[in-house]
Amino acid sequence: MTEITRTFAETRQRGRGRVGLVPTMGFFHEGHSALMAAARAASETVVVSLFVNPLQFNDRADLERYPRDLDRDLEIAREQGVDLLFVPPAEEMYPLEPLTRVEVARVADHLEGPRRPGHFAGVATVVAKLFAGLQPDFAFFGRKDAQQLAVVRRLVLDLSFPVTVIGRPTLREADGLALSSRNVYLRPDDRPQALLLSMGLFAAADLAEAGHFEASELIAAVRRVGSGEDFEYVTLASQDTAQPIDRIDRPSFLALAARIGSVRLIDNVAFDLVAGNVIGDRGIRLSAPSRLYS
Ligand code: AMP
Repeated sequence: MTEITRTFAETRQRGRGRVGLVPTMGFFHEGHSALMAAARAASETVVVSLFVNPLQFNDRADLERYPRDLDRDLEIAREQGVDLLFVPPAEEMYPLEPLTRVEVARVADHLEGPRRPGHFAGVATVVAKLFAGLQPDFAFFGRKDAQQLAVVRRLVLDLSFPVTVIGRPTLREADGLALSSRNVYLRPDDRPQALLLSMGLFAAADLAEAGHFEASELIAAVRRVGSGEDFEYVTLASQDTAQPIDRIDRPSFLALAARIGSVRLIDNVAFDLVAGNVIGDRGIRLSAPSRLYS
């Protein structure tokens, strides 16, 4: 039975045994469900936080139109066996105007950082508050937001939060498009173009697994498949620091951002080194339409 909680104190007090936290902004899709399932498998108490965090939106219009539906989210949380859905009102999150910001330098310098000023400080600040206020043993994040994952991992190291951060693969629609709550705003005629993003990344992953490790070659492959796309960037970066790198010589990810219609999409494939081999994590594809559309 999933219960909604509104304060840090009651959420913390209800935790029994190991607590697994999944931080979210709601409007759940299968990417969120997969994180909840991973948390369920690892923890006695699963807490999902749902807070559309104004601090991390640099674009007011994006914040205002972010999709919200608590009844729908509660239903999905129930299906995944979530114990507590923590939905703090703004006064619980920010009882006073917040004067403190957590800034993770360098990791936020490239990719999304310069294009969304203040975004990662907003993310890092709210994640630090969740860790401090809820004291989870584990916290689950999607690899879809690879730079965010790097920011969170570094924040935990730098500030000694006693939490284990777990990154999970990207869930994709059946055609390959990475799931995002914002996909509901794609028009049907935007989809063919949106599809080229993941197709380009998969082509690059094939190249990398065949021994082509140069960033320039992988980036060219993405740009070739997506010729005509409005790319903001296509970059190979280190998983640890999110700094651009020239070749896959460490755990890394090939990331892109592009505008499709009125929606800004991000996607990536991660490159892990397994027994000396480069393996591309292309994520997991749904076999049926996402429940985002039902
Ligand atoms: P959000 O609600 O968009 O802030 O996302 C909450 C968590 O879900 C973050 O850790 C995201 O990285 C993760 N997430 C979002 N989309 C996906 C996806 N398609 N696959 C896996 N995880 C995702």
